[in-house]
Amino acid sequence: MCQTNRKLPIKKVERQLKDCGLSPLVTCDKKAPGKGTIISTEIGSVSKFTDEKIAVQLVAKAGFDAWDFSMFTNMVVFDRRTKRHRPADHPLATDNYLAYARELRRIGEDNGIICNQSHAPFPSANKEIRSYLKRALECTAEAGGKICVIHPCNDWETAKNAEMFAELLPFAKSCGVKIATENMWNWDSENGHAASASCSDPKSFVELLDAVNDEYFVACLDLGHAEMKGLGTSAVEMIRALGSRLKALHIHDNDKLHDSHQLPYSMDIAFGPIIEALYEINYDGEFTLESDSYIGKKTLVKNLLDMSKVARKMASEFDALHF
Ligand SMILES: [Zn+2]
Repeated sequence: MCQTNRKLPIKKVERQLKDCGLSPLVTCDKKAPGKGTIISTEIGSVSKFTDEKIAVQLVAKAGFDAWDFSMFTNMVVFDRRTKRHRPADHPLATDNYLAYARELRRIGEDNGIICNQSHAPFPSANKEIRSYLKRALECTAEAGGKICVIHPCNDWETAKNAEMFAELLPFAKSCGVKIATENMWNWDSENGHAASASCSDPKSFVELLDAVNDEYFVACLDLGHAEMKGLGTSAVEMIRALGSRLKALHIHDNDKLHDSHQLPYSMDIAFGPIIEALYEINYDGEFTLESDSYIGKKTLVKNLLDMSKVARKMASEFDALHF
């Protein structure tokens, strides 16, 4: 399928901005950095319908403080059906990738927001995909991000995943970017629910962190994944087990069975106890949404506004616990 056919013409983006009472794209709304916990969202879902440059602007206009640099459909493309990768038709797939990352950083800064973290290409089990991980770390640094989320290989033993990350760490350090790995899941089709994978429960996640044992190797907890039936854990339990090594979040909602990636508070996850557990461990990272399935082409701007509202609500509840 040709990606460009799915993109929204600029005038339709402008129309959505106007309908939501927001300023046009030419206007940069410089704002002072807010106090309290930073809220962020990934730009991958937005840039399905526009390009990253506009996506960063829209995330800023919707009220987020930061953007999460998605690099998994633009740097290289993995075809789930054929299980093969192919080069992407995108600036991040060319030799000019750093200039593009720099440009996104500038657009963000012009609009008063920063890049807080990124998401490297996956699945990491694919050798060619792994060859892009250093590029993802470089782009994160160039965009101003401090953390790059890199999936472990779902089915690898802890020692083999630890070896992959240990190999990347000297490069990550030279970029000044920490690697955060994420809790994954497999699917048990016979029983119709999730099944264990690397880092899917506290024991497995802590085991990998301990095996690598480096301050540049931290945890990104995907709250939705942690709540899926069949994994025998919960987001609260994972937060407590990860403690001070938890430095990034992927926040979204689901029916506690499927990986729905929906708007928080719209489905079955109880976010109150999660926010309290984050307070208990002195979480000092950002609140980053990954509710990508909530984003629709015709309602792009409205969806982003809804997302920033719920992210702000969560961050405010979390910040209120500190007083
Ligand atoms: Zn995630």
